[in-house]
Amino acid sequence: SVMREERIKKTKTVCTFCGVGCSFDVWTKGREILKVEPQQDSPANGISTCVKGKFGWDFVNSEERLTKPLIREGDTFREAEWDEALTLISSKFNEIKKEHGPDALTFISSSKCTNEESYLMQKLARAVIGTNNIDNCSRYCQTPATMGLSRTVGYGGDAGTIKDIENAGLILVVGSNTSESHPVLATRVKRSHKLRGQKLIVADIRKHEMAERSDLFIQPKPGSDIVWLSAVTKYIIDQGWADASFIRNRVNGFEEYKSNLEKFTLEYAEKATGISQETLIQIAETIHEADGTCILWAMGVTQHLGGSDTSTAISNLLLVTGNYGRPGAGAYPLRGHNNVQGASDFGSMPNQFPSYEKVADDKVREKYERGWGVKLPAEPGLNNHEMIKGIHDGHVKAMYVKGEEMGVVDSNLNFVHEAFEKLDFFVVQDIFFSRTAQFADVVLPASPSLEKEGTFTNTERRIQRLYQVFEPLGDSKPDWVILTEIANRMGANWNYSHPSDIMAEAVQLAPLFAGVNYERLEGYKSLCWPVESDGRDTPLLFTEDFPFDDGRAKLYPVDWTEPLEFDEQYDIHVNNGRLLEHFHEGNLTYKSKGISEKTPSTFLEVSPELAKERGLKDGTLVRLSTPYGNLKVKCHITDRVKGKEVYLPMNDSGDSAINLLTSSKADKDTDTPAYKEVKAKLEILSQE
Ligand code: SF4
Repeated sequence: SVMREERIKKTKTVCTFCGVGCSFDVWTKGREILKVEPQQDSPANGISTCVKGKFGWDFVNSEERLTKPLIREGDTFREAEWDEALTLISSKFNEIKKEHGPDALTFISSSKCTNEESYLMQKLARAVIGTNNIDNCSRYCQTPATMGLSRTVGYGGDAGTIKDIENAGLILVVGSNTSESHPVLATRVKRSHKLRGQKLIVADIRKHEMAERSDLFIQPKPGSDIVWLSAVTKYIIDQGWADASFIRNRVNGFEEYKSNLEKFTLEYAEKATGISQETLIQIAETIHEADGTCILWAMGVTQHLGGSDTSTAISNLLLVTGNYGRPGAGAYPLRGHNNVQGASDFGSMPNQFPSYEKVADDKVREKYERGWGVKLPAEPGLNNHEMIKGIHDGHVKAMYVKGEEMGVVDSNLNFVHEAFEKLDFFVVQDIFFSRTAQFADVVLPASPSLEKEGTFTNTERRIQRLYQVFEPLGDSKPDWVILTEIANRMGANWNYSHPSDIMAEAVQLAPLFAGVNYERLEGYKSLCWPVESDGRDTPLLFTEDFPFDDGRAKLYPVDWTEPLEFDEQYDIHVNNGRLLEHFHEGNLTYKSKGISEKTPSTFLEVSPELAKERGLKDGTLVRLSTPYGNLKVKCHITDRVKGKEVYLPMNDSGDSAINLLTSSKADKDTDTPAYKEVKAKLEILSQE
């Protein structure tokens, strides 16, 4: 009936559960979500979604949502009104700034929040407080990929669209559990493989679903990907299969790079990686014969001591074989969070303004000083790793964490928790009372994506709008509103009435987004950056030039950083990653009934060999320990893993949280934690 239709509302939004950036209509009645309906013109996903996008939204109406600001009183918290909480924050921030200087304050932006909110968070840190101490969680995952690409091709983003991947002759997946982490993108790969005869090679230490479907699956020793990638590249050059005209016309540094590859012979690679020489030759031949190669990679590459270098080696291989600048070729780092791309794009980084312009560059800084009407600090700030160390060292006094579960997802958790306890003043802004919030002095209730407007940027560099479905629950507020109120209490004069005002300001300063505006993003319309001022966007990068002064890409020599050694005591390698059903630490997805009933807790995947050797069965409770901490978890025996490799899904924020085991060791170029290099001791606590 008419009445009934009037009460049912359809609103376009963008999924917040991964970097694929599926868009769809949400059907609602009151605060009830009736269904999620993707559209034919959803640019990243067409009519597909995965289980999280379809059924993962109950958390929005959870009784556990924060609906009031909380202020610490001794060991507990009391509810407060906004005015009191904001006054306390601004006076504490001012006091600490006055006493210890602006660099005693630190800011963590969120990869789940909108582009506009990341822009405001870095503006708050830089323009209002006067520090570059701002970072976001790409430090935990994708900064090494961005580094590898910035060095070689200039832009740290996917080379083309998700749809372009279908045109490739070969898909090479390295260290990415694509089916579970980027489900809808994986579906496209699986379909092209089945219907179009696209070749699929997978390199991983765990036999996940993509591996099972591949034409060739290799299991290199953990942390050795750079070696086989470099050996394959060298073999291609030695056979005369390099793309000579592409290199001559578009690439610098070939000779130097070639001599750097000398040591990566097939013999050397076989020894270092465990992959036979015949298999390495087979990979080289498949790349040579393929009409276009795309390389997809994720945390299995980046979360190592040499994560940036391995990402660089991937890009080098693509340059040598001329695999950039056409559909169905190029680098595809698969972004994890819905807006991890945008959080960095819009400047929540200690060394860069929006658009990846350097804070140390006088001209750039002057532009922002004019735009914002303040003097800005020239020294790059602390990354989140350095912030935690800074708290321990005593020069960092305050922290403001927006929408990040740092107290679960950062490495070496015991060290992180001790740091939180040392802070003079700690503000946490979230939609739930998170593990991190337990350490806070003030907790601010924010609104999730369905309760606000703004834009997200997915793994394809595609900027998409989300529309407000519900009013903010209780007294919660959108993050951009909270940031504005804090800034204004500290003497700023921000008068944004809608996120479109924030975007309008950002695009005047940030050249990558020059032509972005909300009209051009209406409904299911989208733009892939760089966007020219006339609105032309760039779904496919590097068709003519690379963004360097001479327009040419750079081959960048790299070497192998060997992974941590085993010793007798710590003889188990604990690999870790995602599960299809859950999102990160699970704060959102465990609160969605359909999902938590299916996968109620995490578990440890153990190989049949190890189970036999140690007497482990399905359900055996074990303790894993490292010099940094220990955790308890139940075993699940499976041949997805082999030998002394075990796999722990990271979706737990309590006694089984993976980061109770990880160390502070990190990628040497970006400080991204080496999450994947965990050596542990395993003991049985009880049999089921
Ligand atoms: Fe959401 Fe990613 Fe699933 Fe798409 S593939 S519905 S973006 S979680």
